[in-house]
Amino acid sequence: MQPKLLVVEDETRMLEEIQTYLLHEGFRVLNASNGKEALTIARSERPDLVVLDWMLPEKSGIDVVREIRQISNCGIIMVTARSDESDKIVGLEIGADDYLTKPFSLRELSSRIRALLRRLRGPEDRLMLLERDNLIISEAKCQVFQDGQEIQLTPTEFKILYTLAARPGMVFSRLQLLKAALADEYMGYERTMDSHIRNLRRKLGDDPANPRYIQTVYGFGYRFGEQS
Ligand code: CA
Repeated sequence: MQPKLLVVEDETRMLEEIQTYLLHEGFRVLNASNGKEALTIARSERPDLVVLDWMLPEKSGIDVVREIRQISNCGIIMVTARSDESDKIVGLEIGADDYLTKPFSLRELSSRIRALLRRLRGPEDRLMLLERDNLIISEAKCQVFQDGQEIQLTPTEFKILYTLAARPGMVFSRLQLLKAALADEYMGYERTMDSHIRNLRRKLGDDPANPRYIQTVYGFGYRFGEQS
């Protein structure tokens, strides 16, 4: 399935140009000419990514980003005509993922869209081992090394660090980090995992008090034992 984009732009000619180009690039493209319409479409069509003009009639780009973020984690690229840095910073802080300053080439827009879609596909598609600055972060082992020394983090601290380091430069709201760290919505599934593990141990003859195969890592989950 091709990614679904929503382009929000009040200048008709520009909207048409962008839409034509992105359709030609193989995307599915929806459009809106104001913020209110954009929110309605974002709700009903669940686009993968929104290209959002910052200067819109009725609702400002800021309001549109805030309201989209309440309903969706889709990618948001804001398009600003101003060279004013503060606009971009505000936009990124409230949940936009990237920005383009007018005038921009359609080719650049398309490549930014592809880059952001790749980034949004999430850490599961990426390397399990992150090397950032002097840190090595192993998602697989839930371990962090700084200059080769292991740093002891709580599970929540680890998940926050991993979430941030997986996408350098990307701004996460406190709420996004909280969701990444706690993943409340998966709690039900986590409990059913405990019974799968119990059954697996029983079938493998693994002693839960001193498991040879599947070890419990408190606060994180489980790992397969390493034989030295
Ligand atoms: Ca505009």
